Amino acid sequence: MSAWESAQFQLAEAVRQLGLDDGFHDLLRTPRREITVAVPLRRDDGHVEVLRGYRVQHNLTRGPAKGGVRFHPATDLDEVRALAMWMTWKCALVGVPYGGAKGGVAVDPKKLSRNELERMTRRYMSELIPMVGPEKDIPAPDVGTDEQTMAWMMDTYSIHSGYTTTGVVTGKPVSIGGSEGRGGATSRGVMYSAFCALRDAGLTPADMTVAVQGFGKVGALTAQYLHDAGCRVVAVSDVQGGVYDPGGLPTASLARHLRSGAPTVVGYPGTDPISNAELLELDVDILVPAALEGVIHQENASRIRARFIVEGANGPTTPDADQILQENGILVVPDILANSGGVAVSYFEWVQDLQAYFWSEDEVNDRLKIMMERAYAQVSNLAAERKVSMRTAAQMIGVGRVAEAHRTRGLYP
Ligand code: NAD
Repeated sequence: MSAWESAQFQLAEAVRQLGLDDGFHDLLRTPRREITVAVPLRRDDGHVEVLRGYRVQHNLTRGPAKGGVRFHPATDLDEVRALAMWMTWKCALVGVPYGGAKGGVAVDPKKLSRNELERMTRRYMSELIPMVGPEKDIPAPDVGTDEQTMAWMMDTYSIHSGYTTTGVVTGKPVSIGGSEGRGGATSRGVMYSAFCALRDAGLTPADMTVAVQGFGKVGALTAQYLHDAGCRVVAVSDVQGGVYDPGGLPTASLARHLRSGAPTVVGYPGTDPISNAELLELDVDILVPAALEGVIHQENASRIRARFIVEGANGPTTPDADQILQENGILVVPDILANSGGVAVSYFEWVQDLQAYFWSEDEVNDRLKIMMERAYAQVSNLAAERKVSMRTAAQMIGVGRVAEAHRTRGLYP
Protein backbone atom coordinates (compact mmCIF):
# COMPACT_ATOMS: atom_id res chain seq x y z
CA MET A 1 0.00 0.00 0.00
CA SER A 2 1.40 3.43 -0.91
CA ALA A 3 1.59 6.25 1.64
CA TRP A 4 -1.30 8.02 -0.10
CA GLU A 5 -3.44 4.87 0.02
CA SER A 6 -2.59 4.43 3.73
CA ALA A 7 -3.49 8.05 4.49
CA GLN A 8 -6.81 7.68 2.63
CA PHE A 9 -7.60 4.44 4.43
CA GLN A 10 -6.92 6.00 7.84
CA LEU A 11 -9.05 9.04 6.99
CA ALA A 12 -11.93 6.80 5.87
CA GLU A 13 -11.84 4.98 9.20
CA ALA A 14 -11.88 8.26 11.17
CA VAL A 15 -14.74 9.59 9.01
CA ARG A 16 -16.70 6.39 9.66
CA GLN A 17 -16.13 6.59 13.41
CA LEU A 18 -17.11 10.26 13.45
CA GLY A 19 -20.21 9.63 11.34
CA LEU A 20 -19.35 12.33 8.77
CA ASP A 21 -21.22 12.27 5.46
CA ASP A 22 -19.77 11.63 1.99
CA GLY A 23 -19.58 15.32 1.12
CA PHE A 24 -17.50 16.02 4.20
CA HIS A 25 -15.32 13.02 3.47
CA ASP A 26 -14.65 14.41 -0.02
CA LEU A 27 -13.88 17.85 1.38
CA LEU A 28 -11.38 16.40 3.85
CA ARG A 29 -9.62 14.04 1.51
CA THR A 30 -9.08 16.46 -1.37
CA PRO A 31 -5.93 18.61 -1.18
CA ARG A 32 -6.79 22.30 -1.59
CA ARG A 33 -3.76 23.20 -3.72
CA GLU A 34 -1.05 21.19 -5.44
CA ILE A 35 1.84 22.54 -7.44
CA THR A 36 4.49 20.76 -9.48
CA VAL A 37 7.48 22.90 -10.40
CA ALA A 38 10.45 22.43 -12.68
CA VAL A 39 13.71 23.03 -10.84
CA PRO A 40 16.46 23.68 -13.39
CA LEU A 41 19.85 23.09 -11.81
CA ARG A 42 23.19 24.12 -13.28
CA ARG A 43 25.65 21.43 -12.18
CA ASP A 44 29.21 22.40 -11.27
CA ASP A 45 30.50 21.13 -14.64
CA GLY A 46 28.18 23.57 -16.45
CA HIS A 47 25.47 21.24 -17.75
CA VAL A 48 21.83 21.78 -16.80
CA GLU A 49 19.49 19.20 -15.29
CA VAL A 50 15.79 19.79 -14.69
CA LEU A 51 14.50 18.29 -11.43
CA ARG A 52 10.90 17.98 -10.33
CA GLY A 53 9.63 19.73 -7.20
CA TYR A 54 6.28 19.67 -5.43
CA ARG A 55 4.25 21.49 -2.79
CA VAL A 56 0.84 20.34 -1.62
CA GLN A 57 -1.38 22.36 0.72
CA HIS A 58 -3.80 19.76 1.92
CA ASN A 59 -5.94 21.97 4.13
CA LEU A 60 -5.98 25.66 5.13
CA THR A 61 -9.12 25.84 7.23
CA ARG A 62 -7.50 26.20 10.68
CA GLY A 63 -4.69 28.54 9.60
CA PRO A 64 -1.74 28.78 7.22
CA ALA A 65 -0.40 25.56 5.78
CA LYS A 66 2.59 24.00 7.55
CA GLY A 67 4.86 21.13 6.64
CA GLY A 68 8.32 19.89 5.79
CA VAL A 69 10.36 19.78 2.63
CA ARG A 70 11.86 16.46 1.58
CA PHE A 71 14.80 15.96 -0.78
CA HIS A 72 14.72 12.27 -1.72
CA PRO A 73 14.91 10.39 -5.04
CA ALA A 74 11.61 8.57 -4.43
CA THR A 75 9.62 11.73 -3.64
CA ASP A 76 6.58 12.13 -5.89
CA LEU A 77 3.25 13.93 -5.85
CA ASP A 78 1.37 11.10 -4.15
CA GLU A 79 3.90 10.82 -1.32
CA VAL A 80 3.79 14.59 -0.79
CA ARG A 81 -0.04 14.47 -0.74
CA ALA A 82 0.00 11.79 1.96
CA LEU A 83 2.53 13.66 4.08
CA ALA A 84 0.52 16.90 3.67
CA MET A 85 -2.69 15.18 4.78
CA TRP A 86 -0.99 13.72 7.88
CA MET A 87 0.26 17.24 8.71
CA THR A 88 -3.33 18.54 8.67
CA TRP A 89 -4.48 16.02 11.28
CA LYS A 90 -1.25 16.39 13.30
CA CYS A 91 -1.52 20.17 13.61
CA ALA A 92 -5.15 19.89 14.71
CA LEU A 93 -4.35 17.08 17.16
CA VAL A 94 -1.49 18.83 18.90
CA GLY A 95 -3.44 22.10 18.86
CA VAL A 96 -1.42 24.44 16.65
CA PRO A 97 -3.37 26.81 14.36
CA TYR A 98 -2.23 25.47 11.00
CA GLY A 99 -3.40 23.45 8.07
CA GLY A 100 -1.20 20.75 6.58
CA ALA A 101 1.31 20.96 3.75
CA LYS A 102 4.36 19.17 2.46
CA GLY A 103 6.88 19.67 -0.30
CA GLY A 104 9.82 18.02 -1.89
CA VAL A 105 12.20 17.61 -4.75
CA ALA A 106 12.92 14.24 -6.38
CA VAL A 107 16.69 14.27 -5.92
CA ASP A 108 19.40 12.54 -3.93
CA PRO A 109 20.99 15.46 -2.05
CA LYS A 110 24.04 13.33 -1.23
CA LYS A 111 24.90 13.31 -4.95
CA LEU A 112 25.06 17.13 -5.18
CA SER A 113 27.94 19.37 -4.18
CA ARG A 114 27.20 21.99 -1.55
CA ASN A 115 27.02 24.70 -4.23
CA GLU A 116 24.64 22.61 -6.33
CA LEU A 117 22.48 21.94 -3.28
CA GLU A 118 22.30 25.66 -2.52
CA ARG A 119 21.38 26.58 -6.13
CA MET A 120 18.73 23.85 -6.24
CA THR A 121 17.22 24.86 -2.89
CA ARG A 122 17.06 28.54 -3.86
CA ARG A 123 15.50 27.79 -7.26
CA TYR A 124 12.91 25.47 -5.70
CA MET A 125 12.02 28.15 -3.13
CA SER A 126 11.81 30.88 -5.78
CA GLU A 127 9.33 28.70 -7.73
CA LEU A 128 7.18 28.41 -4.58
CA ILE A 129 7.14 32.12 -3.74
CA PRO A 130 3.55 32.75 -4.92
CA MET A 131 2.36 30.00 -2.57
CA VAL A 132 4.41 30.40 0.62
CA GLY A 133 4.83 33.07 3.28
CA PRO A 134 4.33 33.51 7.03
CA GLU A 135 0.56 33.90 6.59
CA LYS A 136 0.24 31.35 3.77
CA ASP A 137 2.44 28.29 4.07
CA ILE A 138 5.52 27.77 6.25
CA PRO A 139 8.00 25.04 5.21
CA ALA A 140 10.33 23.19 7.64
CA PRO A 141 13.00 20.46 7.40
CA ASP A 142 12.17 16.81 6.66
CA VAL A 143 14.14 13.90 5.17
CA GLY A 144 17.24 15.13 3.33
CA THR A 145 16.90 18.78 4.39
CA ASP A 146 18.20 20.63 7.45
CA GLU A 147 18.80 23.99 9.12
CA GLN A 148 21.03 25.13 6.26
CA THR A 149 18.31 24.34 3.71
CA MET A 150 15.89 26.47 5.73
CA ALA A 151 18.44 29.31 5.93
CA TRP A 152 18.77 29.34 2.11
CA MET A 153 14.98 29.22 1.70
CA MET A 154 14.47 32.08 4.15
CA ASP A 155 17.19 34.13 2.47
CA THR A 156 15.76 33.54 -1.02
CA TYR A 157 12.26 34.57 0.07
CA SER A 158 13.62 37.62 1.92
CA ILE A 159 15.71 38.80 -1.04
CA HIS A 160 12.60 38.60 -3.25
CA SER A 161 10.55 40.51 -0.65
CA GLY A 162 13.19 43.18 -0.15
CA TYR A 163 13.26 42.69 3.62
CA THR A 164 14.06 39.89 6.06
CA THR A 165 11.11 37.59 6.69
CA THR A 166 12.21 35.10 9.32
CA GLY A 167 8.71 33.60 9.78
CA VAL A 168 8.53 32.12 6.27
CA VAL A 169 10.20 28.86 7.35
CA THR A 170 10.89 27.11 10.66
CA GLY A 171 13.74 24.86 11.72
CA LYS A 172 16.22 27.66 10.93
CA PRO A 173 19.51 28.17 12.73
CA VAL A 174 19.05 30.12 15.99
CA SER A 175 21.34 32.88 14.66
CA ILE A 176 18.72 33.89 12.05
CA GLY A 177 15.46 33.56 13.94
CA GLY A 178 15.37 29.85 14.73
CA SER A 179 14.07 28.67 18.09
CA GLU A 180 16.08 27.19 20.91
CA GLY A 181 15.03 23.56 21.22
CA ARG A 182 13.72 23.12 17.64
CA GLY A 183 16.60 20.86 16.59
CA GLY A 184 15.69 18.23 19.18
CA ALA A 185 11.96 18.90 19.37
CA THR A 186 10.65 15.99 17.29
CA SER A 187 12.87 13.53 19.17
CA ARG A 188 11.97 15.03 22.55
CA GLY A 189 8.31 14.61 21.62
CA VAL A 190 8.92 10.97 20.65
CA MET A 191 10.52 10.47 24.06
CA TYR A 192 7.60 12.11 25.92
CA SER A 193 5.16 9.91 23.98
CA ALA A 194 7.16 6.80 24.82
CA PHE A 195 7.18 7.80 28.50
CA CYS A 196 3.40 8.32 28.49
CA ALA A 197 2.95 4.82 27.02
CA LEU A 198 5.29 3.32 29.63
CA ARG A 199 3.58 5.17 32.47
CA ASP A 200 0.14 3.93 31.39
CA ALA A 201 1.54 0.38 31.39
CA GLY A 202 3.02 0.86 34.88
CA LEU A 203 6.62 0.82 33.59
CA THR A 204 9.58 3.18 33.90
CA PRO A 205 12.26 3.94 31.28
CA ALA A 206 15.05 2.35 33.34
CA ASP A 207 16.63 -0.48 31.37
CA MET A 208 13.89 -0.61 28.73
CA THR A 209 15.47 -1.91 25.52
CA VAL A 210 15.10 0.22 22.41
CA ALA A 211 15.74 -0.17 18.67
CA VAL A 212 15.70 2.88 16.39
CA GLN A 213 15.44 2.62 12.60
CA GLY A 214 16.90 5.73 10.93
CA PHE A 215 19.76 7.55 12.60
CA GLY A 216 19.03 10.97 11.10
CA LYS A 217 17.73 14.19 12.65
CA VAL A 218 14.85 12.46 14.44
CA GLY A 219 16.31 9.00 15.11
CA ALA A 220 19.75 9.98 16.42
CA LEU A 221 18.43 12.38 19.06
CA THR A 222 15.58 10.05 20.02
CA ALA A 223 18.20 7.35 20.67
CA GLN A 224 20.27 9.87 22.64
CA TYR A 225 17.39 11.15 24.80
CA LEU A 226 16.14 7.64 25.56
CA HIS A 227 19.67 6.56 26.44
CA ASP A 228 20.05 9.60 28.73
CA ALA A 229 16.75 8.66 30.42
CA GLY A 230 18.10 5.21 31.33
CA CYS A 231 16.89 3.09 28.42
CA ARG A 232 19.27 0.62 26.75
CA VAL A 233 19.48 1.41 23.02
CA VAL A 234 20.52 -1.93 21.52
CA ALA A 235 20.23 -1.21 17.77
CA VAL A 236 20.22 1.76 15.40
CA SER A 237 20.40 1.91 11.60
CA ASP A 238 20.56 4.13 8.56
CA VAL A 239 19.93 3.54 4.87
CA GLN A 240 23.05 1.37 4.59
CA GLY A 241 22.22 -0.97 7.50
CA GLY A 242 22.47 -1.09 11.27
CA VAL A 243 24.55 -1.84 14.33
CA TYR A 244 23.59 -4.00 17.31
CA ASP A 245 24.91 -4.43 20.83
CA PRO A 246 22.69 -6.20 23.36
CA GLY A 247 24.62 -4.48 26.15
CA GLY A 248 23.68 -1.02 24.82
CA LEU A 249 25.17 1.22 22.12
CA PRO A 250 27.21 4.37 22.78
CA THR A 251 24.66 6.68 21.13
CA ALA A 252 26.65 9.91 21.60
CA SER A 253 29.82 8.41 20.09
CA LEU A 254 27.84 7.04 17.15
CA ALA A 255 26.41 10.50 16.46
CA ARG A 256 29.88 12.05 16.75
CA HIS A 257 31.19 9.40 14.34
CA LEU A 258 28.66 10.56 11.70
CA ARG A 259 29.27 14.26 12.39
CA SER A 260 32.97 13.73 11.83
CA GLY A 261 32.23 12.50 8.30
CA ALA A 262 31.53 8.74 8.51
CA PRO A 263 28.90 7.91 5.86
CA THR A 264 27.07 5.30 8.00
CA VAL A 265 26.79 3.75 11.45
CA VAL A 266 27.59 0.37 9.88
CA GLY A 267 30.93 -1.03 11.02
CA TYR A 268 31.19 1.10 14.16
CA PRO A 269 33.85 -0.58 16.35
CA GLY A 270 32.57 -2.97 19.02
CA THR A 271 29.15 -3.50 17.41
CA ASP A 272 27.60 -6.34 15.42
CA PRO A 273 26.03 -5.67 12.02
CA ILE A 274 22.25 -5.95 11.68
CA SER A 275 20.02 -5.33 8.67
CA ASN A 276 17.13 -2.87 8.72
CA ALA A 277 14.70 -5.77 8.38
CA GLU A 278 16.24 -7.61 11.35
CA LEU A 279 16.26 -4.47 13.49
CA LEU A 280 12.49 -4.09 13.13
CA GLU A 281 11.97 -7.65 14.35
CA LEU A 282 14.23 -7.47 17.43
CA ASP A 283 12.86 -8.55 20.78
CA VAL A 284 12.94 -5.08 22.37
CA ASP A 285 10.55 -3.13 24.58
CA ILE A 286 10.37 -0.04 22.37
CA LEU A 287 10.75 0.14 18.59
CA VAL A 288 11.11 3.60 17.05
CA PRO A 289 10.81 3.65 13.25
CA ALA A 290 12.39 7.01 12.31
CA ALA A 291 13.19 6.66 8.61
CA LEU A 292 10.59 6.30 5.85
CA GLU A 293 6.99 5.20 5.19
CA GLY A 294 5.66 1.68 4.89
CA VAL A 295 8.48 -0.22 6.63
CA ILE A 296 6.10 -2.20 8.86
CA HIS A 297 3.75 -3.96 6.49
CA GLN A 298 1.63 -7.07 6.01
CA GLU A 299 4.65 -9.34 5.46
CA ASN A 300 6.71 -8.47 8.55
CA ALA A 301 4.07 -7.24 11.03
CA SER A 302 3.46 -10.69 12.54
CA ARG A 303 7.20 -11.00 13.30
CA ILE A 304 7.43 -7.69 15.22
CA ARG A 305 8.19 -8.47 18.86
CA ALA A 306 8.45 -4.98 20.40
CA ARG A 307 5.90 -4.17 23.07
CA PHE A 308 5.56 -0.51 22.03
CA ILE A 309 6.04 1.07 18.61
CA VAL A 310 6.53 4.81 18.86
CA GLU A 311 6.42 6.29 15.36
CA GLY A 312 9.09 8.92 14.81
CA ALA A 313 8.67 8.61 11.04
CA ASN A 314 5.52 9.59 9.19
CA GLY A 315 3.51 6.63 7.96
CA PRO A 316 5.92 3.81 8.89
CA THR A 317 3.07 1.32 9.48
CA THR A 318 0.58 0.31 6.77
CA PRO A 319 -3.09 -0.21 7.72
CA ASP A 320 -2.91 -4.00 7.20
CA ALA A 321 0.10 -4.14 9.53
CA ASP A 322 -1.79 -2.00 12.08
CA GLN A 323 -4.47 -4.67 12.21
CA ILE A 324 -1.93 -7.45 12.87
CA LEU A 325 -0.08 -5.43 15.53
CA GLN A 326 -3.33 -4.68 17.32
CA GLU A 327 -4.30 -8.36 17.32
CA ASN A 328 -0.88 -9.15 18.79
CA GLY A 329 -1.34 -6.65 21.62
CA ILE A 330 1.41 -4.27 20.47
CA LEU A 331 0.71 -0.64 21.36
CA VAL A 332 1.38 1.71 18.44
CA VAL A 333 1.79 5.38 19.37
CA PRO A 334 0.87 6.84 15.97
CA ASP A 335 3.00 9.26 13.95
CA ILE A 336 0.63 12.24 14.10
CA LEU A 337 0.91 12.07 17.90
CA ALA A 338 4.40 10.71 18.51
CA ASN A 339 6.30 12.99 16.12
CA SER A 340 4.17 16.11 16.61
CA GLY A 341 6.84 17.72 18.81
CA GLY A 342 8.50 19.00 15.64
CA VAL A 343 5.53 21.01 14.46
CA ALA A 344 4.73 22.12 18.02
CA VAL A 345 8.14 23.79 18.35
CA SER A 346 7.95 25.02 14.74
CA TYR A 347 4.82 26.82 15.89
CA PHE A 348 6.76 28.29 18.82
CA GLU A 349 9.48 29.40 16.38
CA TRP A 350 6.94 31.09 14.10
CA VAL A 351 5.30 32.87 17.07
CA GLN A 352 8.72 34.07 18.26
CA ASP A 353 9.60 35.28 14.74
CA LEU A 354 6.31 37.16 14.36
CA GLN A 355 6.79 38.84 17.75
CA ALA A 356 10.58 39.22 17.38
CA TYR A 357 10.78 38.07 20.99
CA PHE A 358 12.68 34.89 21.81
CA TRP A 359 12.27 32.29 24.54
CA SER A 360 14.77 30.22 26.52
CA GLU A 361 15.32 26.54 25.75
CA ASP A 362 13.76 25.53 29.08
CA GLU A 363 10.64 27.51 28.27
CA VAL A 364 10.37 25.81 24.86
CA ASN A 365 10.90 22.32 26.29
CA ASP A 366 8.46 22.87 29.16
CA ARG A 367 5.72 24.07 26.82
CA LEU A 368 6.41 21.18 24.45
CA LYS A 369 6.06 18.64 27.27
CA ILE A 370 2.71 20.11 28.32
CA MET A 371 1.37 20.01 24.74
CA MET A 372 2.57 16.45 24.09
CA GLU A 373 1.23 15.06 27.36
CA ARG A 374 -2.12 16.76 26.82
CA ALA A 375 -2.41 15.36 23.28
CA TYR A 376 -1.35 11.89 24.45
CA ALA A 377 -3.96 11.89 27.25
CA GLN A 378 -6.71 12.99 24.85
CA VAL A 379 -5.83 10.22 22.39
CA SER A 380 -5.48 7.52 24.98
CA ASN A 381 -8.77 8.50 26.69
CA LEU A 382 -10.67 8.47 23.40
CA ALA A 383 -9.08 5.14 22.40
CA ALA A 384 -10.29 3.61 25.69
CA GLU A 385 -13.74 5.20 25.49
CA ARG A 386 -14.42 4.19 21.88
CA LYS A 387 -12.44 0.93 21.99
CA VAL A 388 -10.37 1.90 18.96
CA SER A 389 -6.62 1.93 18.33
CA MET A 390 -4.49 4.91 19.33
CA ARG A 391 -4.11 5.64 15.58
CA THR A 392 -7.84 5.78 14.98
CA ALA A 393 -8.37 7.87 18.12
CA ALA A 394 -5.64 10.34 17.07
CA GLN A 395 -7.09 10.60 13.57
CA MET A 396 -10.60 11.08 14.99
CA ILE A 397 -9.44 14.01 17.10
CA GLY A 398 -7.44 15.61 14.27
CA VAL A 399 -10.06 15.02 11.58
CA GLY A 400 -12.88 15.99 13.95
CA ARG A 401 -11.29 19.37 14.72
CA VAL A 402 -10.73 20.15 11.05
CA ALA A 403 -14.31 19.11 10.24
CA GLU A 404 -15.54 21.35 13.04
CA ALA A 405 -13.56 24.30 11.64
CA HIS A 406 -15.09 23.71 8.17
CA ARG A 407 -18.55 23.56 9.68
CA THR A 408 -18.08 26.75 11.68
CA ARG A 409 -16.59 28.73 8.82
CA GLY A 410 -19.19 27.49 6.34
CA LEU A 411 -18.76 26.67 2.68
CA TYR A 412 -17.99 29.57 0.33
CA PRO A 413 -19.95 30.71 -1.61
P1 NAD B 1 16.85 12.56 7.97
O1 NAD B 1 17.08 12.71 6.51
O2 NAD B 1 17.55 13.47 8.91
O3 NAD B 1 17.17 11.06 8.43
C1 NAD B 1 16.63 9.94 7.81
C2 NAD B 1 17.35 8.70 8.31
O4 NAD B 1 16.72 7.54 7.76
C3 NAD B 1 18.81 8.62 7.89
O5 NAD B 1 19.55 7.99 8.92
C4 NAD B 1 18.76 7.72 6.66
O6 NAD B 1 19.99 7.08 6.39
C5 NAD B 1 17.70 6.75 7.10
N1 NAD B 1 17.07 6.05 5.98
C6 NAD B 1 16.72 6.55 4.78
N2 NAD B 1 16.19 5.59 4.02
C7 NAD B 1 16.21 4.47 4.77
C8 NAD B 1 15.80 3.13 4.52
N3 NAD B 1 15.27 2.78 3.35
N4 NAD B 1 15.95 2.24 5.53
C9 NAD B 1 16.48 2.62 6.69
N5 NAD B 1 16.89 3.85 6.98
C10 NAD B 1 16.76 4.75 6.02
O7 NAD B 1 15.27 12.68 8.16
P2 NAD B 1 14.47 13.03 9.50
O8 NAD B 1 14.16 14.48 9.46
O9 NAD B 1 15.12 12.43 10.67
O10 NAD B 1 13.08 12.30 9.20
C11 NAD B 1 12.87 10.92 9.49
C12 NAD B 1 11.38 10.64 9.56
O11 NAD B 1 10.79 11.46 10.58
C13 NAD B 1 10.60 10.95 8.27
O12 NAD B 1 9.53 10.05 8.17
C14 NAD B 1 10.06 12.34 8.54
O13 NAD B 1 8.94 12.65 7.74
C15 NAD B 1 9.72 12.21 10.02
N6 NAD B 1 9.59 13.48 10.73
C16 NAD B 1 10.61 14.37 10.77
C17 NAD B 1 10.47 15.53 11.50
C18 NAD B 1 11.59 16.52 11.63
O14 NAD B 1 11.44 17.46 12.42
N7 NAD B 1 12.70 16.38 10.95
C19 NAD B 1 9.27 15.80 12.17
C20 NAD B 1 8.25 14.86 12.12
C21 NAD B 1 8.42 13.69 11.40
